[in-house]
Amino acid sequence: AAASRVPQRRRVASRAMSAEAPPGVAPADEPAGRKAAAVAEMVEEATVWCAVHGLVVGDRAQPRSGTVPGVGLVHAPFSLLPTHFPASFWKQACELAPIFNDLVDRVSLDGKFLQDSLSKTKQVDDFTSRLLDIHTKMMEVNKKEDIRLGLHRSDYMLDSETNSLLQIELNTISSSFPGLGSLVSELHRTLINRYGKALGLDSKRIPQNWAATQFAEALGRAWAEFNNKSAVIMMVVQPEERNMKTLAQVEAEGQILPDGTLVVDGQTVSVVYFRAGYSPNDYPSEVEWGARLLMEQSSAIKCPSISYHLVGTKKIQQELAKPNVLERFLDNKEDIAKLQKCFAGLWSLDNEEIVKSAIEKPDLFVLKPQREGGGNNIYGHDLRETLVRLQKEQGEALAAYILMQRIFPRASLTHLVQGGVCFEDLTISELGIYGAYLRNKDKVVMNNQCGYLMRTKVSSSNEGGVAAGFAVLDSILLT
Ligand code: ADP
Ligand code: MG
Ligand code: MG
Repeated sequence: AAASRVPQRRRVASRAMSAEAPPGVAPADEPAGRKAAAVAEMVEEATVWCAVHGLVVGDRAQPRSGTVPGVGLVHAPFSLLPTHFPASFWKQACELAPIFNDLVDRVSLDGKFLQDSLSKTKQVDDFTSRLLDIHTKMMEVNKKEDIRLGLHRSDYMLDSETNSLLQIELNTISSSFPGLGSLVSELHRTLINRYGKALGLDSKRIPQNWAATQFAEALGRAWAEFNNKSAVIMMVVQPEERNMKTLAQVEAEGQILPDGTLVVDGQTVSVVYFRAGYSPNDYPSEVEWGARLLMEQSSAIKCPSISYHLVGTKKIQQELAKPNVLERFLDNKEDIAKLQKCFAGLWSLDNEEIVKSAIEKPDLFVLKPQREGGGNNIYGHDLRETLVRLQKEQGEALAAYILMQRIFPRASLTHLVQGGVCFEDLTISELGIYGAYLRNKDKVVMNNQCGYLMRTKVSSSNEGGVAAGFAVLDSILLT
């Protein structure tokens, strides 16, 4: 299903070497034929590299891929060559990573700000309401998290209208693809080392990408701060993955000792790393909510804590973009200016004027609910209909959403490879910068930018998301 959502136009089959002759040019045309052959050779080289180096994902067409390890794997969707990206914007995005890490930590400590900002959302959005309930319980018992670990990814697009780098969102839970993203940079470096001369590309212009190693290091250092050699790091995952715990298993097998220690299946847990728990689908029953609360109540390091999770909501992003709000959390004026520079227009829907503008010109906006994982935003005609409908409904229904200025990146032609098939299409890209933050009381152990993830999608598709099937993995070549 993932692969089939991207329109497979202008195929360049890897073995068939279908000559990509433009209309009116005979297939025998030499340069076009040579180019198609070269692309086909690179695609084959690349897909073999993926298989050998583990740049693979479970194939949804293979039912057993979710339950039997190592069965039914397919190369992850990728772009054949890295996307050009201006070095100045790259530098700007990297510099923002430690500032956003710091901001998340500061905001997470202001429980009242989180509760107040999300109070209206809470009335109309069940999922946010459940998260806030856990947060309230922690505030009531004055729960302190001495050791705080954040593994974040801040996503950006280059707006062609203003020629500026604008933030799409900041992820504080389950920031995806540090592993496969690092591998794609490696794949592109390999291909350019081999074919770069003919293409006029230099692999040194692909920035090093150690996202996976650096996230692992952050988890390891959090474990060290916990200071219990026999404790484990527990990965909380969605069902149909192995070697880790689902929320339901944590509920069934977990307990908290009188001193706050989290023990699951007889093992002391130092760090809980959430690769699940960000979507309502991850909580099909009270069992899963019970597990989330149990972990939050424990002394284990949560990545993320409930506070960090809430800081990553779209609503908080919008609140932080209001005038004079960053100043409540940060002292350094230069840092504040850098953050503000990357904020796109963000509005809450109690702003009637903006709602009116969005109904008039829906293509200039994106309507966002408090959800993660791609595929949830509303665009264009649907955006207009939704706003009109919600306005008619009584109550606070609009408070479940925020409005965001639509960003328009410049489109370029890219070779995309999915399921061993290459096709060329007009695409736009989104750059994610990973950041790791670890602190123990007053000591900041780590506050780093940690590699990146480029995702590229056909420009006619509104949503991003590789797992959701809209985009391919990519890397960057600095210009
Ligand atoms: P999620 O948490 O589900 O990933 P995002 O805010 O990242 O939510 O939105 C999903 C996708 O929608 C993004 O990856 C991007 O492709 C697109 N998108 C989001 N906001 C904008 C925007 N302001 N302008 C253009 N595209 C956007
Ligand atoms: Mg997100
Ligand atoms: Mg996103």
